[in-house]
Amino acid sequence: MIDTGQIRNFCILAHIDHGKSTLADRFLELTGTVEKRKMREQYLDMHPLERERGITIKMQPVRMAWQHGGKEHELNLIDTPGHVDFTYEVSRALAAVEGAILLVDATQGVQAQTIANLHLALEQKLVIIPVINKIDLPSAEIKKAEQELVELLDTSPDEILKISAKTGAGVEDLLRVIIEKVPPPSLRRSLGGGEPPVQSAMRDELRALVFDSMYDPYRGIVAHIRIVAGQIKTHEHIHFLASVTSAEVIEVGIFAPQRTARPELGEGEIGYIATGIKELEQVRVGDTVTGVGSLYTGIQPLYGYKEPMPMVFASVFPENQDECEQLRDALQKLKLNDAALVFEPEVGLASLGRGFRVGFLGMLHMEIISERLSREYELSLVFSNPSVAFRVYRLRKTIESGAEEYVTVYSAMKMPDRHAIRRVEEPWVRGEIVAPSRFLGALTTLVHERAGMIHDTLPIAGERLLVRFDAPLREIIVDFHDVLKSISQGFASFSYSLGGYRPVDIVRLDIVIAEEKMPAFSEIVPAERAYAMGRSRVQKLKELLPRELFAVALQAQVEGRVLARETIPAMRKDVTGYLYGGDRTRKMKLWKKQQKGKKRLKAQAHVKISPDVFLKMMKR
Ligand code: GDP
Ligand code: MG
Repeated sequence: MIDTGQIRNFCILAHIDHGKSTLADRFLELTGTVEKRKMREQYLDMHPLERERGITIKMQPVRMAWQHGGKEHELNLIDTPGHVDFTYEVSRALAAVEGAILLVDATQGVQAQTIANLHLALEQKLVIIPVINKIDLPSAEIKKAEQELVELLDTSPDEILKISAKTGAGVEDLLRVIIEKVPPPSLRRSLGGGEPPVQSAMRDELRALVFDSMYDPYRGIVAHIRIVAGQIKTHEHIHFLASVTSAEVIEVGIFAPQRTARPELGEGEIGYIATGIKELEQVRVGDTVTGVGSLYTGIQPLYGYKEPMPMVFASVFPENQDECEQLRDALQKLKLNDAALVFEPEVGLASLGRGFRVGFLGMLHMEIISERLSREYELSLVFSNPSVAFRVYRLRKTIESGAEEYVTVYSAMKMPDRHAIRRVEEPWVRGEIVAPSRFLGALTTLVHERAGMIHDTLPIAGERLLVRFDAPLREIIVDFHDVLKSISQGFASFSYSLGGYRPVDIVRLDIVIAEEKMPAFSEIVPAERAYAMGRSRVQKLKELLPRELFAVALQAQVEGRVLARETIPAMRKDVTGYLYGGDRTRKMKLWKKQQKGKKRLKAQAHVKISPDVFLKMMKR
């Protein structure tokens, strides 16, 4: 087994598209980890969705070997996603490593996600290696990017490497710097930095952090682990501290980057263990793996992770109600591989049947999950309107102490009527935008339109600004990012985090189609915008819904009061077409018959809404 002193664990952090996955490709090539003929671009983006969209959604570890100073070193690299929705993936990767490459695109400079990820890495006390990428491009502004990094990190220009992940220029030198600057794994940092040194008797006892997991139909749950102390071998018995579950290790191995069995993993290493466990709840991301002996020695769990905070919620129903159990199973398996996913059974919505309320980290996360459910599990689903979590203070719910009590309402369908509510609060975010200063006017307008307020603007080297603002999450989740990109010609970048609750005056906007209330279309909207939003919703529905044989009335209502209405005219079927000229009475007869039929239809009018319409309504 390799000496811990020769191990380096690190990850690559950057704003989306700054070249993380491409840099990982060069590392894989250079170290001979992946054969040249098998190499393809963004090799570590293994999921079909990642390849299709050209973005990383999962962190991906890989083991590489590299000679330095006459010694073989073991490098464990974790590639991470750059989109704000997947920050939880990044934060878990950070807890498994000692160093981070902070990669900045020379044509873009420091962006919002560069800053956000840097803060996460500094919180974990990682060694930061600043690197400027894409120096091969004619539009590269290396000096400018350098100046920005110098200010951001308070470092000197010689500390900043310049590379091209595309051509490979400077990448070998970067490997050398990683080995020289990133410290080998240490027990102390992994225990949270500030804790007292571990008693030496316990030093060799197994402790490993579960930072990810996935389900394998043959080997059960596979936990991705970083060994902090001790070692782990095949056939050993292990124990998960938090879930209080014991198991025999069926297989131990490394990511090469495919899972590759090894006899054992030692201190400081990153790899996986197949547990044979089929009960999906028993292996949790953030849990600590120990030897079964820990049951007696009272060993303490590792630092673990903060539970991710879901930002958006939607209710999800299988189109075919018989598939409810399949949906539960699919969600559980996805959760193993995506620890940020939360869900619980949705109850009390008779019209839509049984389903689940699912929490997501953002709209991209929701989109990815919805695609994975339909592709990997072949489920056809109906999603309700996404909503943030409102805190609703009911009129009657003041407890003895005088303190108010609130209920959390995630879905419009569950929002109590207004007369039962004392007040409502909604989540706000702290946002950070990085943009050239010439867009400040447009940015200010956008933030104000979204009911937000800018509280400061700081210059970043040159003519760019860091704009900090607060806004309701509800206004941010749907399309803020897209609009920001378009008003800034693609130059502005954006990141946000949750920042407390504030009062809001809201109402539930209901959609009634052919006299039937459609709960999946209900949404919670600010009272002052209910009228305008109601109008736009029924207009959109009118465009989206196909014509029926009868006229269909569409209404937007608040507490039974109609705010807007539209009618989809009946489809006119030409029942007399086959009669040429002549006898009008025969035509009249047929028309009469048609009228009667329509009346009958209207009496039993029920408009079936395809999932496609739900999706289109959701994306506005
Ligand atoms: P990630 O989102 O940070 O993982 O970025 P990717 O590795 O997916 O790269 C985003 C885009 O930038 C891809 O089209 C890459 O081919 C391109 N790219 C990455 N590094 C370089 C580079 O050094 N030079 C050039 N010209 N393009 C690069
Ligand atoms: Mg990537």
